[in-house]
Amino acid sequence: MVRRSLVGLCVVATVACGAAGACMEAAGHAPGSSAQSLEAVSSGSPGAAGTPMPSLRTLPSLTSAPSALPSASPAPTPSPASTPAPAPTPEADPFAVTNFASVPKCDLGGTEAFLVSFDQWPLTLVDKTYAVTDSYVPPDLVDVRKAGFGGSYKVRAVVIADLAALRSDAAKASSALAIFSAYRSYKEQTWSFGHWSNVLGPSALMSSARAGHSEHQLGLAIDFRAYGGPVPWAYRNFATETAAGAWLARNAWKYGFVMSYPWNKEAQVCYGYEPWHYRYVGRDEAAAIHASGQTLRVWLWQHQPDQLWKTGAARPTPAPEPRTPLVWPSPSPGPA
Ligand SMILES: [Zn+2]
Repeated sequence: MVRRSLVGLCVVATVACGAAGACMEAAGHAPGSSAQSLEAVSSGSPGAAGTPMPSLRTLPSLTSAPSALPSASPAPTPSPASTPAPAPTPEADPFAVTNFASVPKCDLGGTEAFLVSFDQWPLTLVDKTYAVTDSYVPPDLVDVRKAGFGGSYKVRAVVIADLAALRSDAAKASSALAIFSAYRSYKEQTWSFGHWSNVLGPSALMSSARAGHSEHQLGLAIDFRAYGGPVPWAYRNFATETAAGAWLARNAWKYGFVMSYPWNKEAQVCYGYEPWHYRYVGRDEAAAIHASGQTLRVWLWQHQPDQLWKTGAARPTPAPEPRTPLVWPSPSPGPA
């Protein structure tokens, strides 16, 4: 239950971390399917372009002014009274961001996430504030070899079927993939964040998650690279400069995966661009997120128990513990 330390998203390898940070900051352009900005979504249509919308409530009075004065002149040919068009009934968009108060800021914190039962996996949300505990170990972790990938990485069993299909179809499209990180335990994430903190300093917080705060601990996040290729941060933009990364950016959602940290969405997703990191939410949720145009984090927050996080009493907030310097215990596990 105790939040021990801060720790990291994806990066496990000890490879030139400076390069990783620099790469992420200097990454070129968006993969093309990034979500709308919070501002764009929140503004909605009324007045979005600075033009006030007419108030429908004022329209009936325009046609109801009585004429009290008699007139000797022939009555003018009455023009047909304009009948106010019925107010359109907008269809509810179940994915519209309508309440930004329900999307917390990217504050550092140590509050337990809400939907942390293992059967709630599609909606389990960890971010900079909300986390799973050190005892969160999915009971159904299996080797990614079951999906045809190399390496000894693990994911939850619910991922395997779609991961196998993704791998097969990517290969058929000359975009063969490999995995270089998947499930990471709380302890492994502690090492990972400690490593990146030692290398990058405070800026590690934008590229590495503290222990408990990583999607990798859910057993649902995978870091991909091109088969036979280098680590993805060796590219200025993995999603545009490799066939594998581009294929993922276009197609991963069809297999239930969503890019958690797209280009230029730091304010929404709390981390820098990571075009290799994908979170599995299942095909239905991924299709809904893709259609919504929202980022994964915003969409998940919209589907959390609303308002609970604002009560302050729903979850304890442990006092942060001082971070002790951590030493990466072993050389990089290397690419798959
Ligand atoms: Zn990752």
